[in-house]
Formats: sequence, structure tokens, C-alpha cells
Amino acid sequence: MIEEPFYRDTWAEINLDAIQNNVRNMKKLSGEKVKIIAVVKANAYGHGYAEVAEAALAAGAESLAVAFLDEGLYLRSAGIKAPILVLGAARAGDAALAAEHQIALTVFSEEWLKEAASHLHDKKLSIHIKLDTGMGRLGFTEKDALDRFAAYAASAEKVEIKGIYTHFATADELDTGYFEKQAARFEELLEGLPAENWLVHCANSAAGLRFPAKHFNAVRLGISMYGLSPSAEMKSELPFPLEEALSLHTRIVQVKKLKKGESVSYGATFTAEEDMWAGTLPVGYADGWIRKLKGSEVLLNGERVPIIGRICMDQCLIRLPGEVKTGEKVTLIGRQGEAFIPVDEIAERLETINYEVTCMMAARVPRMYLKNGSIMKVKNYLLS
Ligand SMILES: *Cc1c(COP(=O)(O)O)cnc(C)c1O
Repeated sequence: MIEEPFYRDTWAEINLDAIQNNVRNMKKLSGEKVKIIAVVKANAYGHGYAEVAEAALAAGAESLAVAFLDEGLYLRSAGIKAPILVLGAARAGDAALAAEHQIALTVFSEEWLKEAASHLHDKKLSIHIKLDTGMGRLGFTEKDALDRFAAYAASAEKVEIKGIYTHFATADELDTGYFEKQAARFEELLEGLPAENWLVHCANSAAGLRFPAKHFNAVRLGISMYGLSPSAEMKSELPFPLEEALSLHTRIVQVKKLKKGESVSYGATFTAEEDMWAGTLPVGYADGWIRKLKGSEVLLNGERVPIIGRICMDQCLIRLPGEVKTGEKVTLIGRQGEAFIPVDEIAERLETINYEVTCMMAARVPRMYLKNGSIMKVKNYLLS
């Protein structure tokens, strides 16, 4: 057990069993022939790069994906040996570094690959070819250019084609029209390519969960690995229950009685309408608990209580049902007894998606990793 200390009363708990169950369920759904690529970009959607990577690999994922080369290098420095794919654009000049660390890059230009090859010297670069079938971000759109590229890449001595893929724009929407067009275009573009030994993948979580016929031989599992639905509208279509992995907790650091007419926090926007109890929490917008969450609820002793006044950078206040003890645990995301505040509730309140809520949790929030109900590890980014 590695327990890095932390010295503040706010922490996130990451349930690694939940992550592993989500991976195993996906694996069961897609079958033995389909590989799981665990998407751990953006600090594993806020959950922690290395800890999630290790848990996902142990549960049957075969490889990892990140957005940027730096993230792949971070995983390597943490001792992760599994294949890693960079999904975003990398610089051709950094191809040798990627090759040295056996990190595969996404490629969508012949010119880029020619320049990259000139930097490789004796190293061999693994690549996945990216196809743009309607997302409009990165990738080949034309069959001719793709075929020319594939022929060149296959003949390039220092390049190994490991995979080919595309990304869906609407796989989480109930209307499947655009998704079907993209899937059909993907198959058209694949025609005639020598892809027998390549990883062929297009499914993100949404497509992975809803369209097993479109798995080809790998699924890129992101949001649903963390136990969150890719969208609210497809919740009714989930083939197995997802287990939410992240919860966020704090402790009351001061309990006070407010007299009628007294105000709290910046702007003095909250004024007690009668004598009442209030508590100060050591969590604020710099932790990702942003100001727009003013007025939202948190859990105390299994009951919902509201945040009062403005949320500060490092602190905020709640209304207490009565006098409670300093040090009492408060849950901002997650469960207390029967009561539950899911990530989706926060997302809805912020008029955003669950992805953004977990991604915005700051590095200064320590992460506590749970396995079989006990603490396996504590990660404190400030002190490690
Ligand atoms: C982020 C990302 C994914 C993961 O998507 P989820 O919806 O989180 O499963 C898959 N593929 C690409 C290209 C991505 O950028």
C-alpha cells in the first residue's frame, strides 16, 4: 500500500472495483475477440492516470489511449508497459521520442509521416491511421489519399501500421441516422486495405454499449469505464448497469450559529432570515467545485443540505439542520446511506455533461483509491 499523506479535509474516492466491473462487463458484451482500449486521457477523466490504467489492464483491457504524447510519457514514467495510443495530433519532430517509448501515434497525413520518418533514425514508429467519417476533427476523408498513404506507410521501413480507426459524433443520440452514415463511410474507406492484422476500431463508449455489431476488433472505452452514461438520453439503452467510480467528500471545519440578519461569504449575498446553523467546508472553485454550484445540495448524515452564499476559491458554506460537530463528513458527489448525488446531477445543474464534471476536478484534490472496500492507495499530486 502506498499512502501519500494529505493535510486537508477534502478528498476524492475512486472505487477501482467499479472501474474493473465496468471493464469486465464491456468485455463480456463484446466477446473475447474484441480488445478493450481503456481511454485514460485527461488524468483518466480526473480519476488518475496510472491507477485507472493499472486497474483497467488487470480487468482485461489490452491497451490504453491518451490525447497527447505527454500523457503517454507520463504513463511510461509511472511504469505502465501496455501498448499506448495517442489519439490527438503529435508533432512529426517528436516521432522518435514516441518510438523510443513505444507509444503509437495517430497519423492522417502522408507529408507528416514522411517528415516523421526523417527523424526516426534507427527507431520504429507504430501508427494508427485516422479516418474522418463525419466528426470533422482529424483524419483522411478521401479514399484515394488514404490508399496512397496506406501503401506508402506499409512500405516505409521504420513505420509499422498497428491500427486504423474513426470517431463518432452522435453515437450517444437516440436518432441513429448520422451514426449509421459514419459507420457506412468507415466500411467504405476500409475496403481493400490490408487490415487483417490491424486493430480496426470505431466504437467509443456509446457505440460500444449500443452497437456490438460495430465493434470490429477493438472498443475505445472512456466515460462508461468510469461508470457514467455517455448521455442522458441513452441511459435507457444501457446493456448493463454502470458503476459510478468517483465520489467527492469533505469535512466541516467550522460550525457557527448565524443570527437573523447576518450574512456569509463574498458579496454578502446570503442573509439568514432567522437564527440558523451554518458550516464552513474547505472546498471551492479552485478544486473544481465551481461558483455556478451555488445553491446546490450536499449530503450530511444521509440528508441533503444546501450550499449558502457564494462559493469561494477554497471554501464554501452550507446550511446545517441544527448544531453538528466540527469534522462531520460531507459528501458532494456520491452516496451517504440511501442518499445519492450522482455526477449527472452536478452536470445537469451546470448545464454540461458528466465528462466535464470529473475532468475539472483539480490536481490539488487528493485521490483515495478503494479496492474491496478498503484504501489501497492515496495519491497527493502536490506531495508526490
Ligand atoms: C475521448 C475519446 C474516446 C472515448 O470516448 P468516451 O465517450 O469517453 O467513451 C474515444 N475515442 C476518441 C478518439 C476520443 O477522443
